[in-house]
Amino acid sequence: MALPERDAVAAFVALGANLGDAAATVRAAMQALGQLPHTSLVRGSGLYRSAPLLASGPDFINAVACIHTALSAPELLLQLQQLEQDFGRRRPYANAPRTLDLDLLLYGQGVIHSARLELPHPRMWQRAFVLLPLAEIAPELVGEPLLASVSGQTISRL
Ligand code: ADP
Ligand code: MG
Repeated sequence: MALPERDAVAAFVALGANLGDAAATVRAAMQALGQLPHTSLVRGSGLYRSAPLLASGPDFINAVACIHTALSAPELLLQLQQLEQDFGRRRPYANAPRTLDLDLLLYGQGVIHSARLELPHPRMWQRAFVLLPLAEIAPELVGEPLLASVSGQTISRL
């Protein structure tokens, strides 16, 4: 296995899917993250089922992955969007909702506020479907008060 030439950064990615075999999609996307250039999968959370927030439709399957990557944050975002498209080609009909959503939660200590990329992800701290799987793989990042603040949201671990 080739080692990245550049220094690797720890990044966290949220995975979500609510169409087709969503659990299979999330598992496959998790493995695909580790196949990205200059990137390795360090740890993946278990899978969670959550009710859609502010929307109707099937439940979501969610997970969070920790990767080490030598890609820059914008490069990584482009790769995540490409992966969304790759999995989106399995849409059952034209203009169907996305089968896969990949959000970049954290990129090292990076703070970015651009039109295309905000880091840390601005809504991550309000979402149980992000915080519970994140707490599983990086408990130091998610304290009890944060978990308590999302305890009203419907979510279960598969
Ligand atoms: P959402 O994830 O909020 O449901 P989308 O996946 O459609 O919505 O993303 C909308 C836009 O959010 C993308 O075009 C992307 O440029 C932008 N964006 C900003 N910050 C981030 C981030 N940290 N991770 C992923 N996308 C981001
Ligand atoms: Mg997204």
